[in-house]
Amino acid sequence: MNKFFGLYILTAFFHSCTGQISGNKPQENIKLPMENSQTKQEKIIKSDDEWRKELTPGQFHVLREKGTENPFSGKYYKHNEKGFYTCAGCGVELFSSEKKFDAGCGWPSFFESLSGKVDTIVDNSHGMHRIEITCHKCGGHLGHVFDDGPKPTGLRYCVNSESLDFKKP
Ligand SMILES: [Zn+2]
Repeated sequence: MNKFFGLYILTAFFHSCTGQISGNKPQENIKLPMENSQTKQEKIIKSDDEWRKELTPGQFHVLREKGTENPFSGKYYKHNEKGFYTCAGCGVELFSSEKKFDAGCGWPSFFESLSGKVDTIVDNSHGMHRIEITCHKCGGHLGHVFDDGPKPTGLRYCVNSESLDFKKP
């Protein structure tokens, strides 16, 4: 069961991901629905050295160092096959292709995650106020969620391709 609660976005400054989209309004005092898992799942905890052995340098940088790949550079931003996008760190399913949309920002974008699989964390790094999204199971950094997505959720999960693998149903 998901628990929704609100947080206020206090700044108009966002990651370049949002800057790529025309017609963005300054996002001040907007209530963003938040979703955090209430399900009990086994967490994966590994040291950086262990992760380094399993991941490519690009995956490690994004998942474990909260890096961001260059826009329009990833393998999934214009990927349209039907299936599930899984965490490149632990393999758990995170997003369905049915909830993917073309945000035009150069990163794979979804208007909804699979229930309980993605956690949200307030991120005030780099002088911005954003909502970070992470894999619930392994804690890997995925990207950020913004409130300028399409209906029905109005959310845009902006995800790095490096954080993802793809699995056909
Ligand atoms: Zn994971």
